[in-house]
Amino acid sequence: MGSIGTVHSTVRSFLSQSHQLLINGQWQPAAGGKTFDVENPANGDTITQVAHGGAADIDRAVQAAREAFEGPWSKISASERGRLLWKLAELIDRNADELAQLESLDNGKPMTVSRAADVPLAADIFRYMAGWTTKISGKTFPISVPYTPGSEYFAYTTKEPVGVVGQIIPWNFPLLMAAWKLAPALAAGCTVVLKPAEQTPLSALRLGQLIMEAGIPAGVVNIVTGYGDAGARLAQHPDVDKVAFTGSTEVGRLIVAAAAGNLKKVTLELGGKSPNIIFDDADLDLAIPGAANAIFFNHGQCCAAGSRLYIHDKVYDKVIDGITKIAKSIQLGDGIDPKTQMGPLVSREQLDRVCSYIESGRKAGAKIVAGGERLAQSGYFVQPTIMTETTPDMQVVREEIFGPVVVAMRFHDAEDLLRIANDSEYGLAAGIWTRDLKKAHQVSSRLRAGTTWINCYNIFDAALPFGGYKQSGWGREMGEEAVNLYLETKSVCLLK
Ligand code: NAP
Ligand code: MG
Repeated sequence: MGSIGTVHSTVRSFLSQSHQLLINGQWQPAAGGKTFDVENPANGDTITQVAHGGAADIDRAVQAAREAFEGPWSKISASERGRLLWKLAELIDRNADELAQLESLDNGKPMTVSRAADVPLAADIFRYMAGWTTKISGKTFPISVPYTPGSEYFAYTTKEPVGVVGQIIPWNFPLLMAAWKLAPALAAGCTVVLKPAEQTPLSALRLGQLIMEAGIPAGVVNIVTGYGDAGARLAQHPDVDKVAFTGSTEVGRLIVAAAAGNLKKVTLELGGKSPNIIFDDADLDLAIPGAANAIFFNHGQCCAAGSRLYIHDKVYDKVIDGITKIAKSIQLGDGIDPKTQMGPLVSREQLDRVCSYIESGRKAGAKIVAGGERLAQSGYFVQPTIMTETTPDMQVVREEIFGPVVVAMRFHDAEDLLRIANDSEYGLAAGIWTRDLKKAHQVSSRLRAGTTWINCYNIFDAALPFGGYKQSGWGREMGEEAVNLYLETKSVCLLK
C-alpha cells in the first residue's frame, strides 16, 4: 500500500469500510450490486472500492430528494436550517486532519495544501451560507394597474427554493466542490442528489457521514457515486428542477442538451484559459511567485489557473528567469509526505493528456525552459513546465491543458495585449500585476472575465461570487449570487 503507512488511523478505518450510496439517509449498495476501485494517483494502488451507482440509483435518490423537499425539509425553519449548516461546518473543522489526508490519498494533492485550503474553505462556505438562511426575503411593490381604475392592490414577492437539484462535480477539489454546491442549495431550502467524480469519490462520502451526524434530515442530501452515465441521468431526469455542474466545457454542453427535456434550470462552472498579465511597473517580488502560484497551485488542475502568462518586454527576461527557478525548485512527491509541494496528477488519463499537450507545444515550435517531462516512477507525476516562444494560434495557447504547464508570451503595447488576452473562447479569470492602480482598474474593466485578481491570484472567499463569462459557464458560485440561483421568485397580488 506504499505511503499508506503514514496515514492516520481514522483514515485507515474509513478506507476499510464499505462505501455505499447515501439515499434517503441510508447507506445502500448500488442497484446492480457493482463497485469500482478507487486509486491513489501517487502510486497507482487501489485504496478502497465504492458502490458503482447508475440510472436506477439516481432515480431512487431523486425520489428521496423529492419526498424530503415536500416533507421534512420544507417544515424546518430558516433558523434551524442555518443551525444545521453551521453544525456541519463545525464537524468539518473537527475532522479536518482526516479529511485533508483522505483528499490527498484520493486526489494526489499535498495534504498540507488540503489542510490549509480545501478543508477550511469547505467549512467556511457552510458557515457563510448558514447566515443566509434567515436573510432570504422578498419585497413589496406600489401597484397601479391602468385597466382596473379605482381598485387597490397589495403586492409582494417571496423567494422559494427551486426544488430538487442535481449536482455533478469534478475531481480537482473534490470536497470543496461538494461544499460550494451543497451549501447554497441547502441554505435556499433545496434538496440535492450529488454525483462526485469517479476519480475522487471519498471525501464526498465522508461528508455524507458528517451530514447525517449534523442531523440534516434523511433525503435532503443524497450521494450517488458512479460514472458519467449516472451524471447524464441526473441531468436528464424529468423530476429534477435544476442541475448544477462543474467540469469540462465539453460535458457542460451535454448537460445543457440533457436539461432541455424538462427545461430544468442550469448553472455551469466550466473551463478556462486565464490570462495573467505582468506590466513593466509590477512589483516583481510579488508578481514572480504570484505567477508561479497562479499556474502551479493544485498542479494546474484549476479552472482558474493563470495558464497564459503575458509579460511586458522590459521585464520579460527577469520574470521568466524567476519563475523558471521556482518551477525547478518545486518538490514533487506523494501528497501524504509533509515535504511535498506538488503531488501527482489525478489519473493516468490526465497525465497522458497533459503530456500530449506538452508534445504538441514542442512540435509547434515552443521552447521548454523548465520541466516538460513525466517522472520515470509509478504515480502520475509531471514536472512543472514553462513554455516560451509560443504564438496565439498554438493549441497549447488556445486550449485548457489542466496541468502544471504555462505558456509565456511578450507584449509591448497595452491595446495589443487586451485584444490577445480576450482572444479566447473562455472568460473565467485574469491576473493583473502593476503598481499603477488606475491602469489596473482600466485593464480589469476591459477583460472579459468573471474574476480579475490585481497583484494577487487564486484568492477565493465564500462571500465573493466566482464564475465565468463566455464559454466558462452560466451563473456564479458563492456569495449571495449563488443563493439566488437556487431560488424562484413568486409574485403575490391581493385586492385590498
Ligand atoms: P468531466 O468529464 O467534465 O467530469 C466532470 C463531472 O461530470 C464528473 O462527475 C463526470 O463523471 C461527470 N460527467 C461525465 N460525463 C457526463 C455526462 N455525459 N453527463 C453528466 N455528467 C457527466 O471532466 P473530466 O473528463 O474528468 O476532465 C476532462 C477535462 O475537463 C480536464 O482536463 C479539464 O480540462 C476539464 N475539467 C475542468 C474542471 C473545472 O473545474 N472547471 C474540473 C475538472 C475537469 P465521471 O467522473 O465519471 O467522468
Ligand atoms: Mg470524465
